[in-house]
Amino acid sequence: MQKGNIGVTTENIFPVIKKFLYSDHEIFLRELISNAVDATQKLKTLASMGEFNGEQGDLTVHVTLGKDTITVSDHGLGMTADEIDKYINQIAFSGANDFLEKYKNDANAIIGHFGLGFYSAFMVARKVELITRSYKEGAQAVKWTCDGSPEFSIENVDKAERGTDIVLYIDDDCKEFLEADRISSLLKKYCSFLPVPIAFGKKKEWKDGKEVETGEDNIINDVEPLWTKKPSELKEEDYKKFYKELYPMSDEPLFWIHLNVDYPFHLTGILYFPKVKSNIELTHNKIQLYCNQVYVTDSVEGIVPDFLTLLHGVLDSPDIPLNVSRSYLQSDSNVKKISTYITKKVSDRLQSIFKTDRKQFEEKWNDLKIFIHYGMLTQEDFYERAKDFALLADTDGKYYTFEDYKTLIKDNQTDKEGYLIYLYANNQDEQYSYIEAAKNKGYNVLLMNGQLDIAVVSMLEQKLGKVRFTRVDSDVIDNLIVKEDKKDNDLLSEQAEALSAAFKSQLPKMDKTDFIVTTQALGETAFPVMITQGEYLRRMKEMANIQTGMNFYSEMPDMFSLILNSDHALIKEILKGEEDACGAEAASLKQEIDNVSKECDELRKSQEGKKAEEITTEEKDKIEQLDKKRDELKAKKEQLYSSYASQNKVVRQLIDLALLQNGMLKGEALSNFVKRSIELIH
Ligand code: ADP
Repeated sequence: MQKGNIGVTTENIFPVIKKFLYSDHEIFLRELISNAVDATQKLKTLASMGEFNGEQGDLTVHVTLGKDTITVSDHGLGMTADEIDKYINQIAFSGANDFLEKYKNDANAIIGHFGLGFYSAFMVARKVELITRSYKEGAQAVKWTCDGSPEFSIENVDKAERGTDIVLYIDDDCKEFLEADRISSLLKKYCSFLPVPIAFGKKKEWKDGKEVETGEDNIINDVEPLWTKKPSELKEEDYKKFYKELYPMSDEPLFWIHLNVDYPFHLTGILYFPKVKSNIELTHNKIQLYCNQVYVTDSVEGIVPDFLTLLHGVLDSPDIPLNVSRSYLQSDSNVKKISTYITKKVSDRLQSIFKTDRKQFEEKWNDLKIFIHYGMLTQEDFYERAKDFALLADTDGKYYTFEDYKTLIKDNQTDKEGYLIYLYANNQDEQYSYIEAAKNKGYNVLLMNGQLDIAVVSMLEQKLGKVRFTRVDSDVIDNLIVKEDKKDNDLLSEQAEALSAAFKSQLPKMDKTDFIVTTQALGETAFPVMITQGEYLRRMKEMANIQTGMNFYSEMPDMFSLILNSDHALIKEILKGEEDACGAEAASLKQEIDNVSKECDELRKSQEGKKAEEITTEEKDKIEQLDKKRDELKAKKEQLYSSYASQNKVVRQLIDLALLQNGMLKGEALSNFVKRSIELIH
C-alpha cells in the first residue's frame, strides 16, 4: 500500500470545501454522475476510433444506497494508478483562498475553476473510496481511499469489471442523503436527461394490492431528450408531451421554438410560450439550462434576455461558461451572441405564426401579449421586430396591427391639433356607457386590460408620433376628441353657480377622492350627470402602481369631475326649482356681495402706488373686514343652495346614479340610494 499527500498548496482543503460550498451540498451527486457519464462516453469514443476493441457490455451507471454509503458505479474507461495520481491527486489549487473568498457564494464557479468535481464528494462524506479498473489490457484494479485530510492511500485490489465505483461514507450531519426519496428527487433534478442510462433501485409494480420491486433496473433518465432530436422528425404531440414532463402542473403551451445552432456557438433547446394563469406561475416555472444534457441551473438571468426568462423550456449549450460568476457572464461575448440570437429567433417565430396563421395568433394574443409587451417595453431591438405583429384589440374583439389601426381611425379620430386620438377602455363592464357613447359617435374603442397595458399606452405615445391615448371615461364624449373650438356654455354664471353649489353640497364624502363640479351643455339626450376622471393624473397613479419611484402620485387623491348637463330636462327642472325657491334671496345676497366687492376694489385701487408704510392701520383693517364679510356672504349663499338641494331628492338621486354608473356607490350610500329609489317610485 502506498501513501501520499494530495498535491494542494493549501494545508487542508476539505474543511474549506465544506464551509464554502455549504449551501450547494447536493451538487456532489451531479458531479459524480457527470464524471461517470463522461467516463462512459469516452469509452464509446475510444471504441468508435478502434482504440478499444473489448466488449462494451451494459453501460448503465448505477447509484446505490447502503446503510451509510452512496455508491456511484460506471462501466466507463476506468483509471490506472498513474492516472489517479495525475487526475485526482494533483489538483491545481494555487491562490485558492483568494478565489474562494471572492466566489464563496457561487459553488459552480469554485467547482469549475478547480476541476473540483470529484472532490465535492467531501461536502457530504467523511471518507471516500475510489475503486477502479482501466479499460487498458491487463490493467491492475486499484483502490484509492481518503478520509477528508490531504492524506490518501492507494492499494491494489481485485475488481472483476472495467470501470469505476465511487463509494461515499456519508457524514453524520448529511444523513438526509441516505434517504431514497431525497436521492430520487436529486436525480430527477440533475440527471433527467443525461445521455447514458442511470439506474437507481428497481422498477416497482403493483401486485396483489401492494407495490413490489421487480428485477428490472429503474432507469431515471431519458437519454435522448426532445431537444437533441431533429425538429423535422418531431410532431406537435411530442412537444406538448415533453412540456408536460417538464412542467406537469401547467396548461398546454401556446407556442414553442426549437433552437438549433452550430455556428458561431453551439446551442440547442426548446422554448415554450406558456399559458399563464397567475403571476405566481410566471416566476415559478423556469427555463432550465443544461450543458451537454447535464442540468446546471434554472436561473438563466444574464444568458437569456430579461423578458424571455418568463418563457419555459430548456437550453443546452457547452459554450456558455457556466462556471463563472454572473457578472462575468453578462460581458462574455458568446453569451451576448446567444442572447441576441434567441431574441431574433423568438421574434422570427412569432412573425411567422402571425403571417401564416393570423387566426391562431389572434386567438392566443391575450395570453401572449404579456411576453410581447414586456419585450417591447424593455428591449429596443425587440420593439423594432414586434411592432409589425403586435396587436391592438378593440372592445368588439377585433384585432389590428399598429399600422392597420392608424388607417382605421385616421379620418374620424384626429383632433383639431392633428393628434390621432386612440380611445380605450380597461373594463368593458364598468365603462360600458362611455364605450357606447363613443361607438355611437362612430369612434373605435380599444380594450387595454392587460397587466402591462398602462405602460404600453405611454410607450406607444412616444413611439407612434402624433398620437394620444385617452380613456373613454376621461371626459364627456364631445371633449374626448376636440375637433373644433367648443360653443360656450349657455348658462349664466349665476345659474351655473347655483347648480354646482346644489350638487356639490350633496356629494357624499369619500376617502381620498375629490370632485370638481361643472356644468356643460351636452345635448338633451346625454345623461344629466356624468363623472369623468382626467387621463393624466389617473394614468400617473396607475403607473405608480407598477413602477417604483412614483410614490408622489399614488399619495394623491383621485380627482373626478362631476359634470351637470345643462341641456337635460331634469337639470333644467332642478335649476328652475332652485331659482323659484332661492332666487330672490340669492339675488339680494349677490347684490350685497357685489357691493362689498366693489368697496373692496375701490379701497385697493386707492392704495395702488402707495408704499406699505403709507397705508394706515385703519385702512388695512377695513379691507380685512370687507374680505371677511364677503366670505361670510358667499358661505351664506352656498348654504342657501345647499338647504334647497337637501330637500330635493332628485339631486341626490342623480348624483347616486352617476356614482353607480362608475362603480363608486358602495356601502351605506348604496343602501340609502336603494331606499330613496323605492320611495321615489312609490
Ligand atoms: P473534471 O471532471 O472537471 O475534470 P474531476 O475532479 O471531477 O474534474 O475529475 C478529475 C478527473 O478524474 C477527470 O477529468 C477524469 O479524468 C477522472 N475521473 C473522475 N471520475 C472518473 C470516473 N468515474 N471514471 C474515470 N475517470 C474519472
